[in-house]
Amino acid sequence: MAVSQLAYLGIGVSDLARWRTFASDVLGMQVVEGASDGGVYLRMDECHHRIVLHPSGEDDVVYVGLQAASHAEYEQSKEALRAAGVRITPGTPAEITQRRVLDLVKFETGEVPFELCVGLYTRWDPPFRPGRSMSGFKTGALGFGHVVLRSTTRDDSVRLLTETLGFRISDYIGTMVFLHCNPRHHSIAFQPAAKDLPRSRDKRMWHFMLETNSLDDVGAAMDIAARSGAPLATTLGRHSNDQMVSFYVMTPSGFEVEYGWGGRLVDDSTWIVQRHDRGTLWGHKPQVEAALPVSAQPAAR
Ligand code: FE
Repeated sequence: MAVSQLAYLGIGVSDLARWRTFASDVLGMQVVEGASDGGVYLRMDECHHRIVLHPSGEDDVVYVGLQAASHAEYEQSKEALRAAGVRITPGTPAEITQRRVLDLVKFETGEVPFELCVGLYTRWDPPFRPGRSMSGFKTGALGFGHVVLRSTTRDDSVRLLTETLGFRISDYIGTMVFLHCNPRHHSIAFQPAAKDLPRSRDKRMWHFMLETNSLDDVGAAMDIAARSGAPLATTLGRHSNDQMVSFYVMTPSGFEVEYGWGGRLVDDSTWIVQRHDRGTLWGHKPQVEAALPVSAQPAAR
């Protein structure tokens, strides 16, 4: 088991003011000012942060942080990446300080930027204070949630994460491959990047997912999103594979957040990999994609 969790995320944004309000009011995250480039940290648990919003304007993911559980596994994982022909570059002292880790290296697969880290600081004072009243997030050893990414070389990306970093395939839906590195059903899913799609479908980030401790938090977030004018991307629904009850809302960067509760866990000793015909058991009706041609709509929902 090389990578033990999806540890953190960096997002380049063009409208930091809208993101602050969205993250705090709709998602219930704690906004902490003070990133060195003028960005902000978003907290959701006892870690210093789980997301950094950088005011760099990409409106897309700028790094996905994977944590190795120990120094030994960190060194083994770096060696495995090198042996697989992947170019890895060390994080700068400023990046290591900003991520609140002991060390990190960067690598890319399918034009998706990853960081492999060791020693995420997981006990940070003061304690987490949600941006609005809520029960909190399911994180800890499960990582902060999941990300669904568009890779220009999906099969190579899946192979790299499974063969060098210890990820296991959970299942398949349409063109998507779901991967886990701890009992959370998936920490990462890849789908192929397709060119000539509308701008919001051209991003490396399709969505990231946050899981709350209570179904009521999901309902409350839907109400708050509607009141605040944040466009819902789907209705409430339950996914076929991880059985998460969730809805999707558009971020100020034009990609989506899945906000859910009740995802099932994977036990590797009994898990059977399968292909699901469709992504949803009920609900998850697209709201904002309705105007797009069918070919531009995501395959799995
Ligand atoms: Fe998801």
